[in-house]
Amino acid sequence: MAHGSILYITLGCAKNEVDTDRMRALLNGAGYDEVFSAEDADAVIINTCSFLASATSESIETTLTLAEEISEGVRGTRIVMCGCVPSRYGSELPDELPEVAAFVRTDEEDGIVSVMDEVLGIERVDPPFIPSVKRTVESAVAYVKISDGCDRYCSFCAIPYIRGRYHSRSAESILSEVRDLVAGGVREIVLIGQDTGIWGTDFKDEVDGPTNLAQLMIAVAEAVRPEHVWIRVLYLQPEGMTDELIAAIRDTPEVLPYIDIPVQHCNARVLKAMHRSGSAEQLSDLFAKLRAEIPAMVIRTTSLVGFPGETDEEAAEMLAFMDREGFDYTSVFPYSQEEGTFAAKMDGQVDEDVKLERTQAAMDLAEALGFAATAAHVGEVAEVIVDGIEETDGGLELIGHAWFQAPDSDGAVHLEVTDAAVGDILQVKFTDSFCYELVGEVVEE
Ligand code: SF4
Repeated sequence: MAHGSILYITLGCAKNEVDTDRMRALLNGAGYDEVFSAEDADAVIINTCSFLASATSESIETTLTLAEEISEGVRGTRIVMCGCVPSRYGSELPDELPEVAAFVRTDEEDGIVSVMDEVLGIERVDPPFIPSVKRTVESAVAYVKISDGCDRYCSFCAIPYIRGRYHSRSAESILSEVRDLVAGGVREIVLIGQDTGIWGTDFKDEVDGPTNLAQLMIAVAEAVRPEHVWIRVLYLQPEGMTDELIAAIRDTPEVLPYIDIPVQHCNARVLKAMHRSGSAEQLSDLFAKLRAEIPAMVIRTTSLVGFPGETDEEAAEMLAFMDREGFDYTSVFPYSQEEGTFAAKMDGQVDEDVKLERTQAAMDLAEALGFAATAAHVGEVAEVIVDGIEETDGGLELIGHAWFQAPDSDGAVHLEVTDAAVGDILQVKFTDSFCYELVGEVVEE
């Protein structure tokens, strides 16, 4: 018998999606049912994001809107807030948000069953059954967290205060999750963490098996072979890009030649003020090496615009750097003065209108480069993983993604509807492009 019904709402990034998947699997195993509307739910779990002030506001607004909807109903649905907002603002929240029945920090989420039991007044005779498969993913792609937390303390970033110190997950548990996901039909494994490149550096004891990211990627590839599975790694800081890692990407067929290196800026003074390292020259050397070793390499990056003290010349330098490097994808973020961070107290905060202007210029350039990089694939034939069917202005379309498109971040491939199912891998010829999107036709199944 079900103990109760739960609606899950996830805000923020892929790391939160992974955490929600895990809580869902634990609660399913403990006898809770998932429902898809607040009306049908005994409780709603909101997994929140607090990376930026705007994300925190969205999390709070979502919670308050939901509380208002619920108060109009008769069901007495309880709200449980999880994730980054409780981690960042823990002790202040019960007074500020009396509508919420419980707050669960990111490092407390493994205890979600006890929290929900208490919130819903469930008394158990036997301990809950904990499933051996911890994740329940229905799409063709699964994010697998290999670490959490961050030790870099970039001066603009609140993540280390929210997610804590860097801690690598054991290779054994990563590989076991990967095997389960692939056995369940997943066709692409995306390895994520705040700083994937330093995976393993915090292992204190001697361990059997992989001890760095390059070795882990090879082990993941061996674990999924002979299934036809793609492996992608995201969020590599430039310092983590070792020769061993470049060789592992180059020489391991399952690992896609796609890399996400968030540079944030290229100017050495700005990088130092950000508590990061490097210079335009060093970053260019790194990208040149990557492209020399892996000519097809697709590069995604992040640009932070309007950091305190950034001058017009430094902003222009970053634009010139982006243009020179011709990144396939660039996410542009205007600097946000985050409470509790070092940079929030710095002199030289950039005026909002200047920041906006610089952000627009960076976004325009990022789009011009990205659209051109996408158009360059027209005429190619490549594998596409089918992600689903979507209703568009032109009717129903099959939507998928190619190896050079990270799911949820980059563009997609649009195809005519066939009887292909989610997770099928099709050979597709790209016939046209618009913005970051490609249009294609199946040449062979
Ligand atoms: S590397 Fe820097 S920007 Fe990224 S999560 Fe860590 S502190 Fe934040």
